[in-house]
Amino acid sequence: MSNQLARGPVRTTHADGLLASVGARGVLCDFYDEGAAEIYQDLVQDGDGTAEAREFATHASPAPGPVLELAAGMGRLTFPFLDLGWEVTALELSTAVLDAFRKRLAEQPPDVQDRCAVVQADMSAFALGKRFGTVVISSGSINELDETARRGLYASVREHLEPGGKFLLSLELSGPADSGPQERQQELTGRSGRRHVMHVKTVPAEEIQDITIYPAEETADPFVVSTHRRRIATAERIAEELVRDGFDVLTRTPFASGGEGRPDMVLVEAVAREITEGAE
Ligand code: SAH
Repeated sequence: MSNQLARGPVRTTHADGLLASVGARGVLCDFYDEGAAEIYQDLVQDGDGTAEAREFATHASPAPGPVLELAAGMGRLTFPFLDLGWEVTALELSTAVLDAFRKRLAEQPPDVQDRCAVVQADMSAFALGKRFGTVVISSGSINELDETARRGLYASVREHLEPGGKFLLSLELSGPADSGPQERQQELTGRSGRRHVMHVKTVPAEEIQDITIYPAEETADPFVVSTHRRRIATAERIAEELVRDGFDVLTRTPFASGGEGRPDMVLVEAVAREITEGAE
């Protein structure tokens, strides 16, 4: 099983040090797991995905029909997609995240709710028994997967695209993968006013970014340490993998995720390569 939620939290060096010092008060969990649901909801500022969603829309199949969004999270892109009138199947693995997503969906007008289906599944191995004209994934989501899991993702996506259907990916134009190894730490204030510390360790050579989040309040009890490992594959790398795994990359369009200013992301448009009879 290649997904992290099923494997349990990563033991980051930083988390180990913290847990050793807080003794019995210490609890370790994955950032997207039940145990961290409160922290997740305190911290995840659901950024505005409108400009990014619009970029996806520019490249979607003309009449997108039902769209499959992989690892939808809190719906940063899903809700703008629904605003465009799309019919969206939002796939997500984490139960805690799904609960938060469903709560948000329940606040929408009935016609919007009717256009959104929610499924719990692993994006690196799913079988929905249905095909879509457009499948979308954001950078934050594909970076959840290591190389093996990404192979599973590409294979699953191929199985869910209608003939000529499009696989659209938003990827970071440049990122931590371009610099040397580094560690940084910052204090964050959650919606509740509680303060958290976020420690990020980036190891570009391994394409890994380890995140450790814990209370700024040293006496917190329980002292919940949540960890998460992201991958930091470059857009270049993902495009190569797509071609290797049976996709043609049609276009790569740099765009500004904030809607204006210098492009910081690239929208990759891919289609499944036709299997030619008699080809090797
Ligand atoms: N696409 C959203 C969310 C990004 S956060 C956005 O751009 O805002 C990444 C999400 O991936 C989290 O909600 C996490 O729970 C989910 N996730 C991680 N591994 C997954 C997997 N194997 N299958 C499906 N979802 C997964």
